[in-house]
Amino acid sequence: MMLTLTFLGVGSAFARRNLQSNALVEAWSRAPQEQPFPDDNLLIDFGGTGPTALHQLKVQAGFEYLDRAGRNNYLAIRRLFLTHLHADHVGGVEELAWSALAQRGGPGAAAAKSGGPGRACPGPELLVPDPLLPALWDHTLKGGLGAMEGRTLELSDFFTVRPLSVGRGPGQPFRLMDRYELRPIPTDHIRIQRKYDWPSYGLLLTDRHSGETAVFSGDTRFEASILAPLLSTARASFHEVQLEPGPQPVHALLDELAALPEAITRRVRLYHYGDEWDEPRFAPAAQKFAGFAAPFERYTVFA
Ligand SMILES: [Zn+2]
Ligand SMILES: [Zn+2]
Repeated sequence: MMLTLTFLGVGSAFARRNLQSNALVEAWSRAPQEQPFPDDNLLIDFGGTGPTALHQLKVQAGFEYLDRAGRNNYLAIRRLFLTHLHADHVGGVEELAWSALAQRGGPGAAAAKSGGPGRACPGPELLVPDPLLPALWDHTLKGGLGAMEGRTLELSDFFTVRPLSVGRGPGQPFRLMDRYELRPIPTDHIRIQRKYDWPSYGLLLTDRHSGETAVFSGDTRFEASILAPLLSTARASFHEVQLEPGPQPVHALLDELAALPEAITRRVRLYHYGDEWDEPRFAPAAQKFAGFAAPFERYTVFA
């Protein structure tokens, strides 16, 4: 069995060269080269560039996410986990929701097929830390998804909604293929008045058979006390980075991350970076890491 992660983009919210930082996690009973499609999959975020990025996967061998007409096959996406509500992470969810609903035949057809009353809807599973859920619908999605011809709609018409309870440490787990466990971890991204008062999350991944772990940081400032212990024991990690300090950074700065011991940094790939990433001045610090993550490259998380 195997778990892989492919970035649909690795850029910051305002980058133009590398699409926004969304990721496709795939679980395999054998391996990608031995089966045409994974046994299970999960999108981590789907921002404004997400639909275009998913479509661009068509140029990569081994990714079957288009239908026969060459359109994004959203029914192939089994689950969606959202880290927070910035548009570079949720801006593509409206398209995914409408397209998956249409590809299922609409809410009425879904209800009829399932034999259930009213609004039964076997849509993709939407995994959201519960503090995000009210604002996700009321402030982000309802404007575009709240109505169709002749009726109003709810989030549950599009998705099988699964709120995850969270606290200060790793929150409620969910699984891919029963073997791989993923738990949201709160991140220190935006502070209104104090740490953690605007919800945002990363993911701690565990292979339940081997006990190995991996970290996907999500958008966050550098938080050594929480993340360094997780990164130090992780087999592989993906950490967001901001290259230029700027006036009020809400992301992890390259120099802060580069100050971690090399035993940690050499297993960390950097993502969510600006368009200036390949300027020579960033090379010395970047060399301490596993590198800048590349879009559309399938990384092995657990072999
Ligand atoms: Zn972001
Ligand atoms: Zn953000």
